[in-house]
Amino acid sequence: MIIKPIIAGNWKMHKSNDESISFVGKIQKRILDDELTEIIFCPPFTSLFSIVGTLDNSSFSVGAQNVHCDSHGAFTGEISVNMLDSIGVKYVIIGHSERRHIFDESDHFINEKIIAVNSSNLIPIFCIGETLEQRESGLTDKIIKEQIELGMAKLDSIDPKKFIVAYEPVWAIGTGKTASVLQVEDAHLKIKTNLRILFGSKGEEIPVLYGGSVNENNAESLLKVDGVNGFLIGGASLKVDSFCKIIDIVKNFER
Ligand code: PEP
Repeated sequence: MIIKPIIAGNWKMHKSNDESISFVGKIQKRILDDELTEIIFCPPFTSLFSIVGTLDNSSFSVGAQNVHCDSHGAFTGEISVNMLDSIGVKYVIIGHSERRHIFDESDHFINEKIIAVNSSNLIPIFCIGETLEQRESGLTDKIIKEQIELGMAKLDSIDPKKFIVAYEPVWAIGTGKTASVLQVEDAHLKIKTNLRILFGSKGEEIPVLYGGSVNENNAESLLKVDGVNGFLIGGASLKVDSFCKIIDIVKNFER
């Protein structure tokens, strides 16, 4: 089964509403409309609504960077699945290492969000990955397995067209240190195996993205790695030139 490549840009806490609109406008002018690749902009909450309104290219969608598991209530500062869905947001990043490590989000809390999103129209981009300390202690496989089992617990069924996993080794995020081709291949193989054990052949069809200092110079070699179905990109997704170059690499890549 051929999995459509996905490129998601995680803008984190960057770009005002005006900057976001102008940025997406520039990208849309450079990237031809085709349905071969899914390109996702994940701006701050304040730009979601306006970006959805500017999209005129069917390759593009909008994703949020976070969501709460409850549908409504006294959760100051939070946002619900329905609120995002109602303005045309299609994806949401869950379990990003910055949420896990800076905001102390546990596997259990992440699982509650995954459950809420999985039963909605939104598609989760579920992030997993080991810290440098865990890798150096030989714990990478264990951490990947645990994060998948705990984060995806209590999901009785899975639609591989409505779920995305992103492997993001914490030590490679925003550091300029990309994981080697062998490290990525090994991790993606383990992820696919874990997903197959949990969800059978459907699990294997879930797209698995690589994230961690992806740029226009390393995108092609990472894309050649077996089991890499696209990228989750931070820094390079904020620059028109870099992001467009990565999109072109993915679009022109022959599997
Ligand atoms: C990220 O934040 O998900 C990420 C991968 O960042 P960067 O590309 O900057 O390493």
